[in-house]
Amino acid sequence: MINVTRSMMPEFDKYVQMIEKLWHTRWLTNNGEYLVELEKSLEKRFDTRCAIVSNGTLALLISVELFDFPPDSEIITTPFTFVATAGSILWQKYKPVFVDIDRETFNIDVRAIESRITDKTKAILAVHVFGNPCEVEKIEEIARRFQLKIIYDAAHCFDVYYKGRSIYKYGDVSIASFHATKVFHTIEGGAVFSDNAELVERAKRLRNFGFDENVQIVDKGINAKMNEFQAAMGLLNLEIVDREIEKRRRLYEIYKRELRGIVEFQRLSEGITKYNYIYMPVVFPSGDIRDAVHEELKKQGYNTRKYFFPSLDTVFDKDNRCEVARDISQRILHLPLYGDLEEEHVETICSVIKACVRG
Ligand SMILES: *Cc1c(COP(=O)(O)O)cnc(C)c1O
Repeated sequence: MINVTRSMMPEFDKYVQMIEKLWHTRWLTNNGEYLVELEKSLEKRFDTRCAIVSNGTLALLISVELFDFPPDSEIITTPFTFVATAGSILWQKYKPVFVDIDRETFNIDVRAIESRITDKTKAILAVHVFGNPCEVEKIEEIARRFQLKIIYDAAHCFDVYYKGRSIYKYGDVSIASFHATKVFHTIEGGAVFSDNAELVERAKRLRNFGFDENVQIVDKGINAKMNEFQAAMGLLNLEIVDREIEKRRRLYEIYKRELRGIVEFQRLSEGITKYNYIYMPVVFPSGDIRDAVHEELKKQGYNTRKYFFPSLDTVFDKDNRCEVARDISQRILHLPLYGDLEEEHVETICSVIKACVRG
């Protein structure tokens, strides 16, 4: 079976060499040497500050916690995302207010945000869907006018640049996921990115039970620490991620060439100056065709993924119908895309799709 993604892996011997050291130092977690080195490397690479944590969901939870919103606060967000985005708002007992998405970019429809703002609204938690930057200038303008915080779920955005700057630099904070299914991974992992050093310092306290450098309890924290085995994986993957992205780009372009006029593609922001080819989402003319393609490809040995599905308004706020998000989630499918995928497989997948769509 060919899966929709396949984790990038460093050379086995290199990994063994790195973790062998841990048998001597016995320093396995708690701000270890590899963790600190990985944090510094990411800060240098993206020209911003970061607190690495154990997964993207905890990065979201910590980000929502960072601003001490009052109880009953409302946070504007999108229903077209992974469940963790809305989940992090609900876990804090805040109310997610779903705003529908743009039909072409799949990101939150900025024109629809303002009408949903109330005196309880405290933040906008927007998602750069499939690594496609949101309309960050317009979101900033709204946030400034209504004094809202901006949190970006940038889980898909490793190495995405917007107008020459890492997309992690936008908003008050951005969160990344380094899960095994993402383009860059630390097995499980994530990070809170921000240009605001104070917010990042607080995120570092929150990830470690609220302790400060002198192990005084100065905040109400959680355990979101990344261990050294994961950080070592991250350091080695940093060395090979550029090659991984380049290989994905070639396959992505074959898909786009072969499927033009057959399916719809996500419209990528014109401000993108570097993209990461994290996924290969395509949209079919109908939900039935999408499901037929999914089944037919499975029969032929290819796993595809209905993602995001379902639209989260159908789960958490049924009366607030986000029709565009519902429509796209019924018709979207992610095709296999990863560095080691052979071109012949891409050609076969495209032939199967063409046959299904043309009936
Ligand atoms: C993967 C993902 C997350 C969660 O990240 P984990 O590291 O799996 O916890 C959050 N939001 C989006 C949009 C994601 O794709």
